[in-house]
Amino acid sequence: MSFSELGLDPLILKSVLAAGYENATPVQMQAIPAALTGRDLLVSSHTGSGKTAAFLLPSIQRLQAEPTVKSMGPRVLVLTPTRELALQVEKSAMTYGKDLRRFRTACLVGGAPYGLQLKRLSQPVDVVVATPGRLIDHLERGKIDFSRLEVLVLDEADRMLDMGFVDDIKAIAARCPAERQTLLFSATLDGVVGNLARELTRDAQRIEIEAVPQKESKIEQRLLFADNMDHKNRLLDALLRDVDMVQAIV
Ligand code: AMP
Repeated sequence: MSFSELGLDPLILKSVLAAGYENATPVQMQAIPAALTGRDLLVSSHTGSGKTAAFLLPSIQRLQAEPTVKSMGPRVLVLTPTRELALQVEKSAMTYGKDLRRFRTACLVGGAPYGLQLKRLSQPVDVVVATPGRLIDHLERGKIDFSRLEVLVLDEADRMLDMGFVDDIKAIAARCPAERQTLLFSATLDGVVGNLARELTRDAQRIEIEAVPQKESKIEQRLLFADNMDHKNRLLDALLRDVDMVQAIV
């Protein structure tokens, strides 16, 4: 399905095409039109499925409308389990939002100096991508204001729970406006993720994307019987001389 059929704004469509995307992936086909209605979503999808664009494009599209609340705080907040993922998500946001007027992002992750993060927060910001721990630090210091927050995204929610962020996530969600849109993405929607989803979303639409089956492994396994140590060494010597064998573990 082409991106032009998903209901995206021409400015955002332009940045998607400039990024080299031609067709929407399954998670984008389902999640983008659903998120554009403003509903909460629970989406099961994997890394590599195109999930980042699936939550960023409809969220960035909301920024086209003027905010109803006057504040400098973020209108879209994305929580991710790791600093690396946060940086990737912020980079994608900058790609998709590059043609929007005064579009600003901030990435609040641990292990990075506070100074630059505080400087970003001292000016109006549209999209904040954060890891839960560092965001809590900023909240406790009163450095971030969620009064105009419209969308809360939990990216890789299952990994955030595995990493022990459940209380931080709940504390952050409790500070977000109740009438926000919540988009939860996770490899699985069962178990503890399901419990968290029930707590944080309202009348959410569930979208389940089947994982693409792993390609058949190209690893060949062989069992060689050695009569004694000398034989074992000769077998090893033969393997090492085999020019057809590019990589092997013995
Ligand atoms: P993600 O699952 O969001 O981490 O995306 C995986 C990779 O796929 C990223 O490098 C994206 O830039 C790329 N990607 C996302 N959507 C599309 C698309 N519709 N067509 C081609 N590449 C895409």
